[in-house]
Amino acid sequence: MISEGSKGSSLQCGTCPHCGQNYSNLSALKYHVRLVHSDLTNRLCCHLCPRSFLQREQYRQHMWDKHGTRN
Ligand SMILES: [Zn+2]
Ligand SMILES: [Zn+2]
Repeated sequence: MISEGSKGSSLQCGTCPHCGQNYSNLSALKYHVRLVHSDLTNRLCCHLCPRSFLQREQYRQHMWDKHGTRN
C-alpha cells in the first residue's frame, strides 16, 4: 500500500537531467541515460545531474560524493 503525498518516493521515479524526460521508475531512467546520453559519446552520464565522466572511477566517486550512492 502506498499512501498519497508520501515524500520519500523520489527513488521510485525520476526526470532525466539531460533532456527532461520523465520516467516512472529509476531503472528505466538509468537505462535511458546510459542508452541515449552516454553511449554516443562513450561517456558515463549521471542520471541524477547533468554531469558526465570519461572514467568509471570518476563516475563512481561522483555518485558517492554528490549523491551518496554506490553503484
Ligand atoms: Zn534524457
Ligand atoms: Zn550526479
